[in-house]
Amino acid sequence: SPAIVWFRRDLRLADQPALTEAARKGPIIPVYICDDETARHRAMGGASRWWLHQSLEKLDMDLRSLGSRLIVRCGRSDEVLGALATESGAEEIHALHHYEPWWRNAEAAVARKRRLCLHHGNYLAPPGSVTTATGNPYKIYTPFWRALRERMPPPPPLPRPTNLPAPKTWPKSEAIADLKLLPLRPDWAGGLRDTWEPGEAGAHERLSAFREAVATYEARRNLPGEEGTSMLSPHLHFGEISPAQVWHAVAEAGGSTDIFLGEVGWRDYAQNVILQYPDYGTRPARDPFAHFPWRTSKEELKAWQQGRTGYPIVDAGMRQLWHTGWMHNRVRMIAASFLIKHLLIDWREGERWFWDTLVDADYGNNTVNWQWTAGSGIDSNMFVRIMAPLAQSEKFNASDYIRTWVPELADLPDGEIHDPSPAHRPAGYPDKLIDHREARERALAAWRDAKTA
Ligand code: FAD
Repeated sequence: SPAIVWFRRDLRLADQPALTEAARKGPIIPVYICDDETARHRAMGGASRWWLHQSLEKLDMDLRSLGSRLIVRCGRSDEVLGALATESGAEEIHALHHYEPWWRNAEAAVARKRRLCLHHGNYLAPPGSVTTATGNPYKIYTPFWRALRERMPPPPPLPRPTNLPAPKTWPKSEAIADLKLLPLRPDWAGGLRDTWEPGEAGAHERLSAFREAVATYEARRNLPGEEGTSMLSPHLHFGEISPAQVWHAVAEAGGSTDIFLGEVGWRDYAQNVILQYPDYGTRPARDPFAHFPWRTSKEELKAWQQGRTGYPIVDAGMRQLWHTGWMHNRVRMIAASFLIKHLLIDWREGERWFWDTLVDADYGNNTVNWQWTAGSGIDSNMFVRIMAPLAQSEKFNASDYIRTWVPELADLPDGEIHDPSPAHRPAGYPDKLIDHREARERALAAWRDAKTA
């Protein structure tokens, strides 16, 4: 009898242990289930859906080139898998482990009724397996990474299969186009199309380009105006490439790669956090944040979302995000900190916006980084360390980055562009929502209130 291979955020053929293991035993039925019911309020955002559409098309093409195909269905994963197993006579379902709380629930529901074989392969080490000497999970990144680093390198990646045995008859499939993952009107995805090539082949192209640049990663990774980072995040999120593949390719490139690999380690760390705190997306991990006097301002939230705060570096980042579905990490920190500390708007509002607009929107990475920035996380920055956006913009030499994303400021000289004086501010560019010093005082006062509440 055939086995079902249940694809989720692991849309690749090479180094895909669920696929390899199932195909070793006999015919396989690869399936992707478009399932908003299981994730509920964590259903994929708009930018992720755009990505998913392309990635599923590529996966289907790649499977077809090996004599197989992708069956696409909609509905609740456990029900769809049950029905498909009955229809096809499949006795086993193979999948990779996923750690989002809704996926863990779905896995449990499937396993109650069917033989579900879960494999590791989306992280450097199985989340939950990196523990202290006493067997407890780590709370803090640095010791986590030290322990994980000792277990590296990860096992060598599995080769891409050369042929995939097909079942005698193929079950029915929806058409990918009918899933309605793409935006209709307005079509906001032009910038995404120009920036990305979703799919396994696109992921490997990014990786080879980055191998040439990894030697300068440490020096350039904080400069938003340069292409100094890998831009692999959406590919890693959708599992079009595995972290083990990235690790081995980068290690072969040689040179100093530790800082880069440490960032890939943050990805594992974030899974280790959501395993311990499944509701990390809604619940701040530290006490004072249960009573934080957040402000509510629809207008200011909207100004932030649209890149109209009057702080050029923040606006550039938010517009890069809207246009490309991605934002440079340094600017993510600045823009997130600005929302939380300058505008005193609840980090969960920002997290939600990123969830909808990032092509790499990832439950672990997004919530861990938002709580880190807010100071509410188990391992985080302190709330009272308030980033000065204008100083950051100068320090990391963001003038060309601002010129690209805030074109109305493009003619200002380097000395003016980070903080245009009212006399030089072009018509149409907004005044600052709040002055930096005033924002700082207000944030510190709010923090004192939260602590005494
Ligand atoms: P590189 O610098 O080339 O790093 C390589 C890989 O390491 C990345 O692709 C990513 O998978 C991982 N990585 C790097 N930095 C981090 C980090 N701080 N935390 C976790 N993993 C990391 N990253 C996401 O993948 N999804 C998110 O939803 C997300 N939300 C974020 C929200 C905020 C407020 C902040 C400050 C950061 C967020 N990040 C998120 C982390 C980071 O900004 C992105 O992973 C990074 O910018 C992706 O670009 P890159 O692939 O060029 O990274």
